[in-house]
Amino acid sequence: MEKSCLQPLIRPDLQAHIYSADLLNNVRNLRTFCPARTKFCAAVKANGYGHGIDEIVGILKSYVDAFAVATFYEAIHIEPITEGKPILILEPVNPAYTPEQIMLCARYGFHCELSSLEGLEYVSRVLKCTSLRIPLHLNVETGMGRCGLEEGLCQTVFQRLADCPNVRLAGVMTHFATADDEDLSYAYEQLFRFEKFLEQHRLKDRGDITIHACNSAGTLKIPQAHYGMVRCGISMYGYYSRPMKNPPVKLTPILKLQAPITQLNTIPSGYPVGYGKSFITARPTTAAIVYLGYADGYRRCFSNRAKMKIGETAVPVIGRVCMDQVILDVTEVPNVSLGQMVTVIDNRHDSVCGVYSLAGLADTICYEILTMIHSHVSRIVH
Ligand SMILES: *Cc1c(COP(=O)(O)O)cnc(C)c1O
Repeated sequence: MEKSCLQPLIRPDLQAHIYSADLLNNVRNLRTFCPARTKFCAAVKANGYGHGIDEIVGILKSYVDAFAVATFYEAIHIEPITEGKPILILEPVNPAYTPEQIMLCARYGFHCELSSLEGLEYVSRVLKCTSLRIPLHLNVETGMGRCGLEEGLCQTVFQRLADCPNVRLAGVMTHFATADDEDLSYAYEQLFRFEKFLEQHRLKDRGDITIHACNSAGTLKIPQAHYGMVRCGISMYGYYSRPMKNPPVKLTPILKLQAPITQLNTIPSGYPVGYGKSFITARPTTAAIVYLGYADGYRRCFSNRAKMKIGETAVPVIGRVCMDQVILDVTEVPNVSLGQMVTVIDNRHDSVCGVYSLAGLADTICYEILTMIHSHVSRIVH
């Protein structure tokens, strides 16, 4: 291994295995569930939901129609590896973008979200006197209460657009607040408002405008909202936004995180383990140390609660999760050995260390468990 301080720090011992066949199957299954004309936009923000943005884009580039990222910086980062596929930046254009950034967006053809009049005016002022044209997607506020332009102001945007030769209206979009709820009534209200908006402005039959509304949950649960494109993130990576009883599409988790046993100790009964003496052994115990902790994304609230797996044997985390170490009770593992790989995050929905189990322990959603996997964890594509 070369020694270099210019390379970003990577931990080869922490191994996130990315199974590309499963990723492509998930995408295929999702696409098959949508009408053939519906484009598939892959959300790869937050480092590809913690899976490694370069790796995910590399696998997907020939199999999706577009990529969605949160920010300009992610768009610039993946632009050289998307083979010309459109990139949609979800952060709305606004005066905090520098003029150079707006120019680059236009030059690279990045699709940008528009959700304010100021954004529109800023962009057209910056691009005036250039021959550049920026593709914008108008985000219509239908009930998400986040980024989205109120309907009355959308009307004004349509009027102004006529005087903005450097802007092309490439899309009209909205975003569901509750598509992952059991109760879809609010999502249907949003859909109803969006439909009305599209009708009012005669947007549905315009071939030059892509209409899109669905995230993963919407794609799976509100098929009448597929329109011209769906924006799927979590489902591609193999998860329903929350565990789903009878899912209409089969999804397989594509990531398995492993790390080696660094040390094995024999601890007598009645002995404290780790910071704060939060665990006292109840029997002579074989303890294994794994060099991964909350600084790597393995939450401290997993202390004394989570399990990992060695082979098929579940092993409990004992004591506090440290910044960079975890202690496991491996007493029941036959022939446990130094260097042996431990499964920290499993690629099965029902596993004790699957993402749903970990999200449950942390009282959060699967997204947060995945996106917290540190970027220095090495991603190994299979
Ligand atoms: C992140 C995001 C998505 C993807 O959401 P998933 O639930 O992961 O499918 C879609 N649309 C917008 C606007 C987003 O911010």
